[in-house]
Amino acid sequence: MIKFFDLDRQYKIVGRDFIKALKVIMSKGEFILGKETLLFEKEFADFCQTRYAVGVNSGTDALFLSLKCLNIGYGDEVIVPALTFISTSFAVTNSGAKPVFVDIDEATYNLDPKNIENAITKKTKAIIPVHLFGLCANMPEILRIAKKYNLSVIEDACQAHGAKIKENFAGSMGNLGCFSFYPTKNLSAFGDAGLITTNSKKNYSILLKLRDCGRGKLRYSHNIVGYNSRLDNVQALFLRLKLNHLAKWNQRRINIANLYIENLKDLRNIVLPFVPENYKHVFHIFAIRSKKRKKIIEALQQNKIPYGIYYHLPLHLQPANRYLEYKKGQFPVAEKICQEIFALPIHPSLKEDEIKKVIRVIKEVLNG
Ligand SMILES: *Cc1c(COP(=O)(O)O)cnc(C)c1O
Repeated sequence: MIKFFDLDRQYKIVGRDFIKALKVIMSKGEFILGKETLLFEKEFADFCQTRYAVGVNSGTDALFLSLKCLNIGYGDEVIVPALTFISTSFAVTNSGAKPVFVDIDEATYNLDPKNIENAITKKTKAIIPVHLFGLCANMPEILRIAKKYNLSVIEDACQAHGAKIKENFAGSMGNLGCFSFYPTKNLSAFGDAGLITTNSKKNYSILLKLRDCGRGKLRYSHNIVGYNSRLDNVQALFLRLKLNHLAKWNQRRINIANLYIENLKDLRNIVLPFVPENYKHVFHIFAIRSKKRKKIIEALQQNKIPYGIYYHLPLHLQPANRYLEYKKGQFPVAEKICQEIFALPIHPSLKEDEIKKVIRVIKEVLNG
């Protein structure tokens, strides 16, 4: 049976090593901020080619703590793309600041730099580009605008572990990079986990306090108002074991994407993922667009092929964001994409015959 995610198959690869190492951790009784957490932080920072990394308990918290680290809150505005997972905007709302949405680029589905300057006001403090589906946003342009207006840039790299622009890794280009290790992400934990990357020693030392109750050097002296958002040792252990496979797993995703693209590119009524030159897409999601989405989805369902819709609604039309008082029609590209987009299964354990079946079903419905 074709699955949309492959956690059971992944577990077969790393499960035995994990159980062995878990026994060691349990016998030592070292569960919070232990050796595994430190080692994982170091290894993931190396992977992203950043100086520092701070493990936290989710991607959502990575975004929230990044805003706190930069002192962003009440009275401030933060620019967020209109199409992303809701956490990107919730982090801003929960910091006390106001999310300001900007429409996306129709080819890449990422924040369109052309629309950013219009959204900047005196209150704007930061931009959060999201590297949606595994493709980096146009960071050179975004960083140029940020510099011009003296804004911080927080990368939401929750879907883009290992993605690159030229030699620059997702999470290494802005002031801070936010990662999620939610079980379905390209690199995933055994539960919730996240991490923040940075090259700034100052940000690093603030983040260490923020995630751990504002602790200073003394265990019960608390220097700043903090949170409990630590990456626990067991998750870090699991992440370390999987990090060894990440490059290979990403390459497998790219190979599957190329197979899909090669076989589907001549069909009419379908828009395949676009990868700009010098960008490395890591295909967290293989998103395609079609005016015939309904018909294709029916065929997928009949053939027991799972699919996903990322996302049904752009952020400005999400009921939870009604308080921001946006209206339908304000972000036409994001709104149109939500009507047409859907995702095919793509994960490293997908087998050749499974890929062929997906291709066959899509071809049949669009040629038939
Ligand atoms: C998954 C995700 C998040 C949130 O990560 P959690 O670990 O689930 O909190 C944030 N932004 C994007 C783009 C995501 O895909």
